[in-house]
Amino acid sequence: MTSAVNPSNFNELGLIPELLARLSDLEYITPTPIQAKAIPSILTDSDLIAGANTGSGKTATFALPMLQKIFLAQGVKKTPGKGNYVSGLILVPTRELATQVADSVKSYSAHFNGAIKTVAVFGGVSVNAQMQALRGGADIIVATPGRLLDLISSNAVKLDKINTLVLDEADRMLGLGFTEELTELLALMPAKKQTMLFSATFPEQVTQLTQKLLTNPVEIQVQSKDESTLVQRVFSVNKGEKTTVLAHLIKQHAWRQALIFVNAKKDCEHLASKLEKRGINAQVFHGDKGQSERTRVIEKFKTGEIEVLIATDIAARGLDIAKLPVVINFNLPRSPADYMHRIGRSGRAGEVGLALSLIDYEDLHHFKIIEKKNKFRLEREEVKGFAVNQANIDAAQALKNEKPMAKPEGSGKKKKKNKVDTDDIWSGWKGRAK
Ligand code: AMP
Repeated sequence: MTSAVNPSNFNELGLIPELLARLSDLEYITPTPIQAKAIPSILTDSDLIAGANTGSGKTATFALPMLQKIFLAQGVKKTPGKGNYVSGLILVPTRELATQVADSVKSYSAHFNGAIKTVAVFGGVSVNAQMQALRGGADIIVATPGRLLDLISSNAVKLDKINTLVLDEADRMLGLGFTEELTELLALMPAKKQTMLFSATFPEQVTQLTQKLLTNPVEIQVQSKDESTLVQRVFSVNKGEKTTVLAHLIKQHAWRQALIFVNAKKDCEHLASKLEKRGINAQVFHGDKGQSERTRVIEKFKTGEIEVLIATDIAARGLDIAKLPVVINFNLPRSPADYMHRIGRSGRAGEVGLALSLIDYEDLHHFKIIEKKNKFRLEREEVKGFAVNQANIDAAQALKNEKPMAKPEGSGKKKKKNKVDTDDIWSGWKGRAK
């Protein structure tokens, strides 16, 4: 943790006039807590590990100092002539995040009169346009790892002169799935560089990996999302009634937009067609959609043209949908960290937000784990008119009774601990079962 004072004004952070003018255009009056704490350290070249909730202003936190340092190093000289070397690299896990972050960086660069060039590179679209964009060099690249490696192998980019590396959504970038690509990319960068890791969550195994990547990092943890801005609620529903309850909630509340999470691509289509039958027009967003379709859907959802979007976890991270009123977990995410990422799509930048989870008796155990890992506890509620019936209470009870028997033999001590947890998990259903 840093003990840095918290400047309440962007002028106190050490930023140059070109950036201050842009922040004023954007009507950013007060730095968010992560910006106030981290920007001064980043400007002094420290490595950084920042635990900040999504929507906390992370992008400006790393982008502003990165831009400032590049601008001060090169002045108004434009990028061409640098060949294919880049100096700043921001790695992100999804294509949408690459576009979003690059757009923010470009926006913050508005008063540099074109002196700093930022290019987004990501898979799922033709590589040619990105090669074209990189021609003549770029200062900052915002990339998903796979496409960046492709561009490196075709000699469109070189990482030898990287002096700033940002891993956004770092827990994901350092987790399984990106390990090989990230290792390959790191091997192509100079050892001496400033490295910054940003994530809402830092699971234990990731924390261990960070020690290899960072040198004497400044550690900053902020929970800038005031809890009151995001309300979480969980509703117990009968098995098989989730769609009916969901349709009821959507009609009853008539939210301007609702983002609904399911776990599998096919579930997106399935749920959309079931909602359609109930008179609700929903669109889907998942990894099997072509990139132009993905971009089109997100744009339409952002503008409110699409009101109900059903998505897999590719929409869980980083997406900035201004004033998104509600996120609904139709299926619970497998990982407790993903729960936090999902709900973080709502209640961003201090806006009021709502995160609802629909759980049937088979979800109870998993929801309890999500609560425990994320250190919160919600009261189980029911949606008016959709009370949990006796059959479901009985099924919950039966599942509860089954639990100890289902466990593997051995380790009596461990068994006992699980049993206590299990009992706790079923509270809320237990009462009604009596
Ligand atoms: P991020 O966490 O970077 O995705 O940012 C979340 C949202 O907050 C984005 O829409 C930013 O434009 C906005 N934002 C970031 N910093 C500030 C600030 N200091 N004042 C007002 N809005 C901000």
